[in-house]
Formats: sequence, C-alpha cells, structure tokens
Amino acid sequence: MEKAFKDQTVLVTGGSRGIGAAVAERFASVGMNVVIHYRESHETANEVARRCTSAGARVMTVTADLGCREQILKMNEKLTKHGMIPDILVNNAGVSHYGMLADLSVEEWDQLMSINLRGPFLCSQIFMKAMVERKYGRIINISSIWGMAGASCEVAYSTSKGGINAFTKALAKELAPSGVTVNAVAPGPVNTEMMAGFSVEEKAALEHEIPAGRFAQPDEIASLVYYLSLPESGYITGQIISANGGWVT
Ligand code: NAP
Repeated sequence: MEKAFKDQTVLVTGGSRGIGAAVAERFASVGMNVVIHYRESHETANEVARRCTSAGARVMTVTADLGCREQILKMNEKLTKHGMIPDILVNNAGVSHYGMLADLSVEEWDQLMSINLRGPFLCSQIFMKAMVERKYGRIINISSIWGMAGASCEVAYSTSKGGINAFTKALAKELAPSGVTVNAVAPGPVNTEMMAGFSVEEKAALEHEIPAGRFAQPDEIASLVYYLSLPESGYITGQIISANGGWVT
C-alpha cells in the first residue's frame, strides 16, 4: 500500500544551513521524517534538527563527503537501519567559486565538480534503488539560474549546474516508468551564506538587474521543492523550474 505523504522520509543534502535548512524545515512543518545531511557544520545541523523536531518531525542528522561513494553507501546503511529510507531526495549541497577561468586550478575545478555534480549522481544512484523498487519517489536537484544562462567569473559553477540540468532531464526519462520523478529547481540569487562573498555594492547591482528588485529568501525556494515532492505532482518530471524574480525567462 502506498505511504501517506506525511509518513514519507525526505533526505536533504547540505541541510545544515541556507536553502537546505529551509527545505528540511518546510517538510518538518507537516510532520514528515527528515534526514539532514551535512559535511562539517555539525552544530548548525543540530540546530536545524532541533527546530524540525519541535515542529513534530522525526529527525536524523548524517554526515558524508558527497564525492565519496563509500561514505554515501554508509549513510544509506545507517538510514536503512533506522527505518529512514528516503522517498524524497533533495540534492541541495553545493559550492560556488568566483573568479576568472584563467585563474582556476585543475584541483579547484575537480573539487567543485565533485560536490556539485558527482554528489548528486552518487546520491541519486544509491537512493533511487529503493524508490524504483517501491515504484514511487521524488528526486529534486538544486540547480541555478547560471546553469541556464551562464555567468562570467562562474564558469565552473555554471558548467556544473548546466550538467545537473541535463542529468535531471535524462534521468527523468529513465525513471518515469518506475513512478519516480526527477526535477530541478534553478534559483536566481538567494539570501544565504553562499552570497556572503559579495559586497553590499555588488549585491545592490545584482538586485537592480532583477525585475522583482530583490534576492529570494530560502523559504521561497523550499516551497517550490515541497510542491514538486507532493504525490499530486507526479506528472511533472524532467523540468528545470527557475525561481528568479523574472530575471531569466
Ligand atoms: P550554503 O548556505 O553555502 O550551504 C551549502 C550546504 O552545502 C551546507 O549545508 C554545506 O554543509 C553543504 N556542503 C558544502 N560542501 C559540501 C561537501 N563537500 N559535501 C557535502 N556537503 C557540502 O549554500 P546555499 O546558498 O544554501 O546553496 C544550496 C544550493 O543552492 C547549492 O547547490 C547552490 O549551488 C544552490 N544555489 C544557491 C543560490 C544562492 O544564491 N544562494 C542560487 C542558486 C542556486 P557543511 O556546512 O556541513 O559543509
């Protein structure tokens, strides 16, 4: 028998802050089981977990380097042991890099691709197995407006997110017969630590270019992720949906 939405489990990678934390809290607000993955931010992940628990959710925190298959397999074993096999996977963890391509080292390129592209590939491959067996699941990849439009001084980041968009479209076709949807949410700038490297002037210049005149708040992105996860969203798959204040249409 199909599980009720409220009884489902969501795994959010990079749930210790920013968009990932908002996504975890959105699911917790309806009492779902929430797994918060993080890499280093143990304390902030625990704070998010406390907020989710007080909203009535069953919560687990897990740590793993998402570039490492063995660590993700261990995370899967731990979740299975605790009855927290994900019905919904949100591939959110990601890093950015700002600078001219001419100055980017091979190591920096590989590191960014490992987190932004290899991580979602490995997590999807490992966690989709149970979804396919159950003939139900949701995979939501957090992409970026730059994966669609490209950004100067963010060539590696834009490439990784363009890759995620293609990954989303292709995997959606592969998994649609199994009842698993795969979509990407591609935000414009969002008020998180990822934007902390930008000066007040740079942020104001960006805001000036956005028709809505402001950055998104993390919970505005979380609402879209939540919507795509609903059982009634089962006919939406292979889509790149960009919440960007009207900037790129
Ligand atoms: P953030 O505040 O910097 O948070 C990033 C999260 O990713 C943290 O939870 C971090 O965990 C985790 N992470 C970083 N490196 C990791 C690694 N090697 N392995 C596993 N986890 C790792 O970022 P955000 O702004 O919320 O961004 C979340 C997603 O949205 C990213 O994919 C980003 O590209 C995308 N996005 C952001 C914006 C924006 O303007 N903020 C716009 C478009 C798209 P630890 O702290 O524990 O390492």
